[in-house]
Amino acid sequence: MSDPPKGLDVEAVRRDFPILSRVINDKPLVYLDSAATSQKPSRVIDALADFYRTSNANVHRGIYTLSEESTLAYETAREKTAAFINAASSAEIVFTRNTTESLNLIAYSWGRANLGAGDEVLVTAMEHHSNIVPWQIVCQERGAVLRFIPVTDEGFLDLSAIESLITERTKIVAFTHVSNVLGTINPVREIVERAHGAGAVAVVDGAQGAPHGAVDVRALDADFYVFSSHKMLGPTGVGVLYGKASLLNEMPPFLGGGEMIMEVREDGFTWKDPPWKFEAGTPNFADVVAFGAAIDYLSDLGMDNVRQHEMDITGYALQRLATLGDGVAVHGPPDAADRGGVVSFAVESVHPHDIAQTLDWEGVQIRAGHHCAQPLMRRLGTPATARASFYVYNTNEDVDRLVDALKKAGELFGRQRS
Ligand code: PMP
Repeated sequence: MSDPPKGLDVEAVRRDFPILSRVINDKPLVYLDSAATSQKPSRVIDALADFYRTSNANVHRGIYTLSEESTLAYETAREKTAAFINAASSAEIVFTRNTTESLNLIAYSWGRANLGAGDEVLVTAMEHHSNIVPWQIVCQERGAVLRFIPVTDEGFLDLSAIESLITERTKIVAFTHVSNVLGTINPVREIVERAHGAGAVAVVDGAQGAPHGAVDVRALDADFYVFSSHKMLGPTGVGVLYGKASLLNEMPPFLGGGEMIMEVREDGFTWKDPPWKFEAGTPNFADVVAFGAAIDYLSDLGMDNVRQHEMDITGYALQRLATLGDGVAVHGPPDAADRGGVVSFAVESVHPHDIAQTLDWEGVQIRAGHHCAQPLMRRLGTPATARASFYVYNTNEDVDRLVDALKKAGELFGRQRS
């Protein structure tokens, strides 16, 4: 493969995304909610349509050309995914529906088999509910205890607390690579090392990590690393579970049914090797094939370029938001180098939902709410935040439109208050 170009040609990238020509409330669309889901380039949309037009047949079953082609396309996407995160083998890549299902699979399969009464699972206070609730369920079932690594006032994990929180009872340390609220990039390798030092497995929620920068699961030494296609230019309905082969081999299946079995008898069954052991039923093969096209697209851009672009635009956003004065408070690390492309903020005396609504009138699409991170909201002392998030197709002009719309919102609500 040729080397990716230096820097991102954002105008060329934008031309690849048909939705960006939309007009919303008579204004050109500014899409600032990629942390919730990303937009899709024509290459991915076409890959999905082409697959249905030319190659559709169920995978792994047919002894006929079309099914063989379809199986090859599906398994090729698995290989692309493995290469994208530098997994040792495509057998370490399980396709699920989304990050949430990947985390549940680990909790139900590895967690149930390995957690006992009094054992501990360690998560962080900045987790998405997807990386809290499955552990709450399995801890309750097994009589295990869930603990939380606290978050500092600046929005970093309080790593000094880990010493006392990791004990010989800790079996799992599960944490996010990048916070979907604060944008904080966590020191994955360091936390993985501490988990391993205590004999625990390390589960990394990469939903906001893998889409936004180069990930090398072997360098990180993560035991599990999970993410979603829809947040990285791919279709909805595809999640990735990377697991070290040694762990996937020893884990019991999560769901039973067709595809995952070797043999079924009246008195029992045997299962296939990973990854197929964990893919019961007809997989979402058409979307997985299109996900492969998204990986190609991102790889052609170059993940280091993607990261640099987001850091630049986040830095610009932090700088522009600061010009709005004390009335606008940004949550999370002050320096863009410590952040992914996510900026949560509060506007004094204006509810985040009202901010999102008034920005919508200007065509600016942002998210407002608890972002599925209620423990973190409690830590921040607010029920909700407004959040702008950036990706490969966003520009400094988008940030300007955000800031202009915020000024208008401020004037509107300022007038209403007086
Ligand atoms: N973890 C994080 C950090 C997220 O941002 C999200 C999506 N907002 C998820 C998990 C869940 O992803 P999905 O909805 O694709 O399962």
